[in-house]
Amino acid sequence: MPPTAFATSRPLQLRQLACAPVRYPRPSRLETPLSIGSAKMRRAAAGLGLETVGDLLWHLPRDQREARSLDELRGAEAATVVVEVKSISSRSLRRRGMRPLVEAVVMDGTGTVKATFFNQPWLVRRYPPGTRLLLHGRLRARANFNVDAHAPTTESPGGGSGVVSHYPATDGLSSTQIHSLVREHEACLREVIEPLPAALRASERLPDRGAALAAVHFPQHADGQIVDPARARLAFEELLLLQLALLRRRAARQRAEASVLAQPRTLTARWLQEMLPFTLTADQSRAIADIDRDLSSSKPMQRLLMGEVGSGKTVVALYTMLRALEHGTQAALMAPTETLAEQHFATLNALLPGAVIPVGLLTGSTPTRRRADILSKLQSGELALVVGTHALVEEPVRFASLTVAVVDEQHRFGVSQRAALDRKARAGASPHTLHMSATPIPRTLALAGYGDLDLTVLRELPRGRRPVATFVCSTARERTRAYERIREELRAGRQAFVVCPLVEESESLQARAATVEYERLRSGELRNFRLALLHGQLRPAAKQAAMAAFSSGTADVLVATSVIEVGIDVPNATVMVVEDADRYGISQLHQLRGRVGRGGHQSLCLMFGPKGSPRLRALESRADGFELAEIDLRLRGEGELAGVRQHGLTQLRVAQLPHDAGLLERARLHARRIGTEDPGLDRGEHALLLQALAERYGPDALAPIRA
Ligand code: ADP
Ligand code: MG
Repeated sequence: MPPTAFATSRPLQLRQLACAPVRYPRPSRLETPLSIGSAKMRRAAAGLGLETVGDLLWHLPRDQREARSLDELRGAEAATVVVEVKSISSRSLRRRGMRPLVEAVVMDGTGTVKATFFNQPWLVRRYPPGTRLLLHGRLRARANFNVDAHAPTTESPGGGSGVVSHYPATDGLSSTQIHSLVREHEACLREVIEPLPAALRASERLPDRGAALAAVHFPQHADGQIVDPARARLAFEELLLLQLALLRRRAARQRAEASVLAQPRTLTARWLQEMLPFTLTADQSRAIADIDRDLSSSKPMQRLLMGEVGSGKTVVALYTMLRALEHGTQAALMAPTETLAEQHFATLNALLPGAVIPVGLLTGSTPTRRRADILSKLQSGELALVVGTHALVEEPVRFASLTVAVVDEQHRFGVSQRAALDRKARAGASPHTLHMSATPIPRTLALAGYGDLDLTVLRELPRGRRPVATFVCSTARERTRAYERIREELRAGRQAFVVCPLVEESESLQARAATVEYERLRSGELRNFRLALLHGQLRPAAKQAAMAAFSSGTADVLVATSVIEVGIDVPNATVMVVEDADRYGISQLHQLRGRVGRGGHQSLCLMFGPKGSPRLRALESRADGFELAEIDLRLRGEGELAGVRQHGLTQLRVAQLPHDAGLLERARLHARRIGTEDPGLDRGEHALLLQALAERYGPDALAPIRA
């Protein structure tokens, strides 16, 4: 080894020399606002959330492809090329109203084409001969290349180095322009700080954060996928932070005291044996055992009860609440809408025959006198059981001793509303909380989204429920036959739903389509029956009238948009027709189908749509919502899966579930280990992790939920 230092009077600190970084990152440079020339582009960038250099570097490409060389271009297929401008000119316009054109002769060593830019006369000056360009577009006739997006580049034309990243883009800021912005700010990748502890990185063999980002933006090779180890590294970090945030949220809640509800069953034993008109399913019994274990601890229960509509969640919820009552304390059930609260109120009353236990209903439209009465009885403890909307957590509501809270459709409440419910318990305490969700989601997603909750699943439907026979009808003959079957059912005294096509773009279009279908059926296939119409654009009174007519049996058929997805329970309805069924997602169809098959009669779901549709085929052959959710996930990816968006899982920017399920499990293990070894993330090696957590989830993720 050549000498690296001369003898000095001071001892040479080799260790120090070897460890000293060449330079320290300056993360503050990532906070610098992006400087972008045109105001239009700046607005477009802001629309994508790109305001600082850091935002830009974290704006990751969706996929990557090799740039093509000009001689590889095949007609009309979109492609990206790296070229050099030979000559450029704007074409004079002969006819008025024609779009101004700029034409450039460009080449890349394998060929020459004429590139055409529309509506951008200024490009003649901006791209003088010799400029290297990334062009994205299509080859048209006679070596004409129509340019959709363009940006200057430093890549060499046709040199095979051209891997092109495709970024999520927007009107006014193309993927190619984003790419060149990233190139411009490439040097700032050195300012990116590594949040993962070195030991963790070594044991998981993860590249460092800056290198991973660089590799994702500027890969050497690509086959349409983002370079995997780099992407995996960023996904791992993202999942680790998510799990840490969830664990910390859980830990914060567990610091609160809850009342121990461990006395033997008295009231509930009698209720289960004498009052309930049925015996619990095995899943319900298991759920109750889980819940009893939770309630007998002084740590507040934080359990998610997941099961489809009709799986018997309300029964389990009522059991949990009655446990509070038999300890002389109170329980509350909070639902996201008045309709749902009213339904729960009715169900609870039905499950408590003889009305030995009064139930209160508190919503925004509870009349003032009634409300005052309920509030005073809650405060005195005279009323032990209450159902309501977020009206329950408003300031004036006081409980004598709230120990059990049930939150339905919990993802529809904000953190602050749930925290407000917590504060309704005695000072310093939290109620035991049971969250309910009727959207089955696969286990991996549940882990990712609800890592802070214990999970109980009701999979089995109560006995006596028969799966809905489901058929895809494609041909005219099948349709004719379908209407015959509907008329048979109606003549036998049953009722039917007709669900109109989903029109995502516009509620009014969808309402119109439903109205047209209603008129058509009324004078056509179903002319001898009584029809009602229900869609989102009707006045509340008209909606209620339609629902009431169908519920009471005055209407035989309800022609509706997908608004019936929630909130109708008509056991006498045995047929459901879904028009253009393949416009709906699997989970949505499954929810719709859940509206029939609720009584003792065999029910039928007729989906009008193409036979070949994998989604419709899945519904034809399966009844289990969890299995269907898995299939949905496989077919569409998590971004589209019903229930995922509202569960906040689309916050994931890099990780893709279920593809990254393995990474998720490892991230979860590490999060748990870190949580046990250093719950406050106080150790030096976790300082930057803590900071990354705050950056991603805001200071709220760090503060205990209860102030
Ligand atoms: P969810 O709240 O999950 O939609 P519910 O608790 O409202 O389901 O139950 C749906 C219907 O099934 C109700 O009419 C209820 O009385 C009935 N049910 C619940 N559990 C059972 C059971 N174990 N056996 C028979 N019927 C049941
Ligand atoms: Mg229910």
